[in-house]
Amino acid sequence: MNTTGCIVGGGPAGLVLGLLLARQGVKVTVLEKHADFLRDFRGDTVHPSTLAMLDEIGLGDRMAALPGRKAGSLRATFDDGTYTVADFTRLPTPHNYLYFVPQWDFLEMLATEAAKFPTFTLLRSTTVTGLLRDASGAITGVRAIGPEGELEIEASLTVACDGRDSVVRRELGLRPVDYGAPMDVLWFRISRRAGDGDGLAMRIGAGGLMLAIDRGDYYQCAYVIAKGGYDEIRAAGLEALQEQVTRRHPVLADRVGELATWDDVKLLTVKVNRLKRWHAPGALLIGDAAHAMSPIGGVGINLAVQDATATARMLGPTLAAGQPVTEADLAAVQKRRRFPTVVTQNIQRAAQRRIVDPLLHATGRIDAPAPIRLLQRFPALQALPARLAGIGVRPEHMR
Ligand SMILES: Cc1cc2nc3c(=O)[nH]c(=O)nc-3n(C[C@H](O)[C@H](O)[C@H](O)COP(=O)(O)OP(=O)(O)OC[C@H]3O[C@@H](n4cnc5c(N)ncnc54)[C@H](O)[C@@H]3O)c2cc1C
Repeated sequence: MNTTGCIVGGGPAGLVLGLLLARQGVKVTVLEKHADFLRDFRGDTVHPSTLAMLDEIGLGDRMAALPGRKAGSLRATFDDGTYTVADFTRLPTPHNYLYFVPQWDFLEMLATEAAKFPTFTLLRSTTVTGLLRDASGAITGVRAIGPEGELEIEASLTVACDGRDSVVRRELGLRPVDYGAPMDVLWFRISRRAGDGDGLAMRIGAGGLMLAIDRGDYYQCAYVIAKGGYDEIRAAGLEALQEQVTRRHPVLADRVGELATWDDVKLLTVKVNRLKRWHAPGALLIGDAAHAMSPIGGVGINLAVQDATATARMLGPTLAAGQPVTEADLAAVQKRRRFPTVVTQNIQRAAQRRIVDPLLHATGRIDAPAPIRLLQRFPALQALPARLAGIGVRPEHMR
């Protein structure tokens, strides 16, 4: 099978890239190892800069029709009260909110829109297992296994969008620099009732913090634990975890029993890493395959989408014209996207070191730290964290 752009992985990076290239008339094939997008552990945040790009390509109405919920601010509750940490309503953009939309709905919408272009193909249940190379060692496509058995896809350009355990990256022999993270996340659902309060709530107390994402009739909870602390939490028993959850979010006291077995609780391992080189002859890596993001700020999806947007804008015309993409072209994409990635990861790493790690090891009462209190005294400053998380560094456009 032949294609022009072979995209490995149908996550946010892969599907956005597939859609944006197909819109330019590029023959593109996306290979996704799963049959559907229904995976619970994917984050749900869609940021103002991604919403702006979707407006630019005429998908604003399709986004608005998804079962999303808008959060105008991020609040954090400490032992001394609740504080607004980021106020998205202060952003000078029509989408001045974080949009929480189940990622499977977002990805399904992208796949449906992309399928309207005749040059787009999505191969589900198809796992990439290796790379094809020419005599010089340049990548000329992928080897995969799908419902019909093994297949080879030859392509002018292969783009790895296969996430933080990227097979393409491994096959290229590229190893990211690991920056470490002090935490992992327990991910579970607890039902939400009318009158519980909506939006996004963060509860901070001794030993950890918990984020409750309002997904309509349930909360998607992210309970942050110290790295490697899962076995200890498990040994302490489910009741101890239920008690900690109730302490963080008292409104859940009457239903925390919904965490009935450890099968209801998923452990998500947090990684922060980055490749030095995001490309090889014939291949480019973007999104988590090039740089796994910490969940702080919930920006990983946005960065993946921005990488895909820049890639489509910078390489689309060359691919559409049937011209070869050179290593200099690929290096230019890395150069453009490396800067926002480094800045964002540095902010995340500072927050991990200065805020998350001390909190995870604190005992006793935890009051809001001085910078958070400052944001309360001068509310206009709440626009700054909102801008960093919501719009980010160097937002990409697709006009
Ligand atoms: C605990 C935790 C919580 C997070 N919460 C958020 C959040 O709330 N908001 C946010 O923005 N970010 C969040 N993130 C980060 C976010 O999940 C990632 O940054 C983002 O999903 C990266 O997108 P991607 O398209 O690069 O990769 P992925 O989303 O990982 O997609 C990769 C795709 O490739 C497919 N694939 C993998 N291998 C193969 C193969 N060999 N063949 C074919 N297909 C393959 C996978 O099935 C998958 O669909 C969180 C991360 C963690 C660890």
